[in-house]
Amino acid sequence: MNIAYVALGANLGDPAATIRAAFGALANLPESRVVHCSSLYRTAPVGNTEQPEFINAVAALETTLAPESLLDALFDIEARFGRIRTEKNGPRTLDLDLLLYNNQQLNLPRLTLPHPRLHLRAFVLYPLAELAPDLQLPGRGSIAAWLPAVANQGIVK
Ligand code: ADP
Ligand code: MG
Repeated sequence: MNIAYVALGANLGDPAATIRAAFGALANLPESRVVHCSSLYRTAPVGNTEQPEFINAVAALETTLAPESLLDALFDIEARFGRIRTEKNGPRTLDLDLLLYNNQQLNLPRLTLPHPRLHLRAFVLYPLAELAPDLQLPGRGSIAAWLPAVANQGIVK
């Protein structure tokens, strides 16, 4: 059994309802079980700040899907929630990112593990630390060590 952490983000429509529904979609993934869901966090947009605030959360999954199959399954869920890929860091109905898969480090054209920006983003680190306060990030040390650096980014539980 493998443990994977998935980040959820939404900022269009009713983002809190979207994130709750997305937890349900993750629970229906094949070969997988949701073991924990974080609280929902309100966060200020990164990059393009002329857009609504985000709701973010993290889920922990046990899965026997391989990392790339899991990523495909996450893209399928995004598509079902009506995500249209436009500008980078732009508004989206639902964004799902694969943060971690066991301790794997991967550099494939479409999948980097750990997620390359995970340690820089309060909206990922805070919900992830809620689920796994003692987590070690492969190649980057403990999650606890990264939290102070992002404490100034607007995030409210
Ligand atoms: P972002 O989430 O950074 O706003 P996208 O969701 O549009 O942007 O993802 C951009 C690309 O990132 C996708 O085409 C995907 O293949 C790639 N990618 C690389 N590593 C990961 C990962 N760990 N999780 C999700 N997507 C990833
Ligand atoms: Mg994404």
